[in-house]
Amino acid sequence: MSHDDLLKRTTDLALEFLDGLPERRVRQTASVAELRAALGGPLPEQGTDAREVIEHLARAADPGLVGTAGPRYFGFVIGGHVPASLAADWLTSAWDQNAGLYVTSPANSVVEEVAAGWLLEILGLPASASLGFTTGCSMANFTALAAARHAVLARQGWDVEKAGLFGAPPIEVVIGNEAHATILTALQMLGLGRERVKRVAVDGQGRMVPEALREMLAGGSGPLIVCAQAGNVDTGAFDPLEEIVAIVRETRERGGWLHVDGAFGLWAAAVPSLAHLVRGAAGADSWATDAHKWLNVPYDSGIVAVAHPEPHRAAMTISAAYLVQTEGHERDPFDWVPEFSRRARGFTVWAALKSLGRAGVAGMVERCCALARRFAERLREEPGVEILNEVVLNQVLVRFQPPRSGDADALTRDVIARVQADGTCWLGGTTWQGKAAMRISVSGWATTEADVDASAAAILRSFRAAC
Ligand SMILES: *Cc1c(COP(=O)(O)O)cnc(C)c1O
Repeated sequence: MSHDDLLKRTTDLALEFLDGLPERRVRQTASVAELRAALGGPLPEQGTDAREVIEHLARAADPGLVGTAGPRYFGFVIGGHVPASLAADWLTSAWDQNAGLYVTSPANSVVEEVAAGWLLEILGLPASASLGFTTGCSMANFTALAAARHAVLARQGWDVEKAGLFGAPPIEVVIGNEAHATILTALQMLGLGRERVKRVAVDGQGRMVPEALREMLAGGSGPLIVCAQAGNVDTGAFDPLEEIVAIVRETRERGGWLHVDGAFGLWAAAVPSLAHLVRGAAGADSWATDAHKWLNVPYDSGIVAVAHPEPHRAAMTISAAYLVQTEGHERDPFDWVPEFSRRARGFTVWAALKSLGRAGVAGMVERCCALARRFAERLREEPGVEILNEVVLNQVLVRFQPPRSGDADALTRDVIARVQADGTCWLGGTTWQGKAAMRISVSGWATTEADVDASAAAILRSFRAAC
């Protein structure tokens, strides 16, 4: 079998899936037992023809696929893939570049350089920042906090990469009480501990209360890392970054480091009508965001940017005698991320930005926010439906009250289960400040007003059936 026949057949299979995406049931149709039966079996002793393998995979996996890339998936914060970035992803696999070094892929290195410049510009970050292409925002948070750990300890004369943390001056780590779980994961991996952090009080939308931060930092001394957030995963709310930057800079003699987790919220910077939400963000020391969420690039694609390239590189770089590092100014991508050998992630980001342009990115983000507001309007017309958050971005939190007395938590969870089973759309639940809530996240480029209306109708149908 030639590449030619195999890849043409694979294109047909992919197109069949993509063409069916708007109409297919959003959630999987197969049970885990059915999927195991269809895909399992002993390790084959002998090989199988590649075309047969791909036909089998496509057929067997299909009922276990979720329409996350389609127009009516509103779970977590996901996003689909804009066509140019999907196509670039195919090429990335065909090219099979090792993105570690300049010498293993000059094209990737330059594309990363160019895409990094575009990203810093569209996100309103300093052009002098260093930038790395990670698997996702979790590793972007990890990378940024590793740079922070390096910098705040270097100020104390401690080389954490060489000496480790045993005996190091203790670092005060401060996060908002609604920090994303992956901030804690990053801290746990960096030896900074998930439970020794100090948590700053938040308001009803999940925003850090600046006065509470100022009080917490007052009179402190020694190395300091503060983690703020642009875009709460439930409410979409933003920490007041301008005030937080000012407060952290007041600790000047401590040289406090401010990190901003903006997995999806940082993209507000690309939209003139939303940019006020991230005002002040450029004054932070590091930022983490995702391309696979709101830029609608295929998985996996995260972005870390650091205002101070030296600690960023010091925390990540690898050296070994056999590594041919370039002498000049060529970019060696492994200087900026935890991995050495890895996928050439710059191509998909480059293609997404090139195909959308500044206006296209702004339009996509703005449209998702308008659709989130439409969702909230449609739902709150119904007596018993409560919108718990200020819909400032693309997230809507919904709670359902029983018509007479009853348990709103149980009813809300029941409505979520019914919507998931209905299959018109998919969304999940959360507990927001002690109350069960349905989460709606509009992050996909393909969602239309008709999709929102059909999904809102499915939600209200499920609510009425559950009462
Ligand atoms: C999604 C998310 C993360 C984690 O990002 P991944 O790309 O899933 O690793 C971190 N922070 C926030 C606010 C998020 O929404």
